[in-house]
Amino acid sequence: MAHVKLHIPGPVEVSEKTFKAFCSPMIGHRGQGFKDLYSKIQPQLQQLLSTKQLVFLSTSSAWGIMEGAIRNLVSKKVLNCMCGAFSDKWLDVSKRCGKNAEALQVNWGLPIRAELVDAKLATGEFDALTVIHNETSTGVMSPIAEIAALKKKYPDVMFIVDAVSSMTGVPLKFDELGIDVLLAGTQKAFALPPGLAVFTCSKAALQKAAVSKDRGYYFDLVEFQKNAEQSMTPSTPSIAHVHALSSKLDEFFAEGLENRYVRHRKTNQMTRDWAATHGFNLFPEKGFESLTLTCVSNGAKPGGRTVDVPKLQKLAKDAGFLIDGGYGKIKGTTFRISNMGDETETTMGQLFAALDKAMAQL
Ligand SMILES: *Cc1c(COP(=O)(O)O)cnc(C)c1O
Repeated sequence: MAHVKLHIPGPVEVSEKTFKAFCSPMIGHRGQGFKDLYSKIQPQLQQLLSTKQLVFLSTSSAWGIMEGAIRNLVSKKVLNCMCGAFSDKWLDVSKRCGKNAEALQVNWGLPIRAELVDAKLATGEFDALTVIHNETSTGVMSPIAEIAALKKKYPDVMFIVDAVSSMTGVPLKFDELGIDVLLAGTQKAFALPPGLAVFTCSKAALQKAAVSKDRGYYFDLVEFQKNAEQSMTPSTPSIAHVHALSSKLDEFFAEGLENRYVRHRKTNQMTRDWAATHGFNLFPEKGFESLTLTCVSNGAKPGGRTVDVPKLQKLAKDAGFLIDGGYGKIKGTTFRISNMGDETETTMGQLFAALDKAMAQL
């Protein structure tokens, strides 16, 4: 069967080169070969995230670390900042972990604003908060620097940030942000196969985790730190992923991080332009649109064009491209197009040529 190229917001298309690295010969995870591999990528990961802290590798999807951070870092009460399907779900996960949790909910399409977070934290009830930098379901990018700046005012609150669909697509400087946990799954902007998460923690987070009773084993932050100091992971990792990550990081630095960010901005602008050309509005509040994917309004917001999204998807698929038909309660009233990973102006141009043809047939 012919491969349909992924332009959904995760997993995204994985290159032949990455798959080749993924299929490197197997090595032992306690041997020098693995230590050398992790030691080689550690400084690359630290440079990517602008941090002096060690960067950890978790063989799990992002939710493993999202849940793990809750188990390690919440003792009093967690504020779950919610603006879409993934961030909304974090409240449920906090509760399932047996934690006191409260929602800071805004309507889908809106970002999380620092003023709202500030007002909640001012109650003094919270010792942790979760926020999603780039809410993939709504295509909204929240102003993370402004939110992170609150850490100075509330130093005892653990700031847990999901950058699953933004990490590597936009700059995220961990030490400068001053937050406590920054995490991502690799099937989004890294353009690796699903199954690995990358994250880092502040010293304060590691100290807090060390005295937290019910942090479990698999996602114990202290175990990650202890093992990473020896260039190892707590349990047997997906070694294939680590090989693929190493190959990918070499590509990032060959391109140059700044060039990579510029490329994402350009390919994202192309997507917005395509939507505007066809009379669509974008779903996010103006000024808070994601730079790694585009959530197009198809009636979810007043005004703008609407089309038969399943039909558009079908025509796109017949032309070899998979686009997303909207997530959760905005399925069908939005659709989403990803420009994450390896996409260039040329490859996005091919997608839009196919979508133009599809639009003409609707
Ligand atoms: C995809 C996604 C997740 C969930 O990732 P899994 O790999 O399914 O665990 C969480 N947060 C955001 C913002 C995402 O885009």
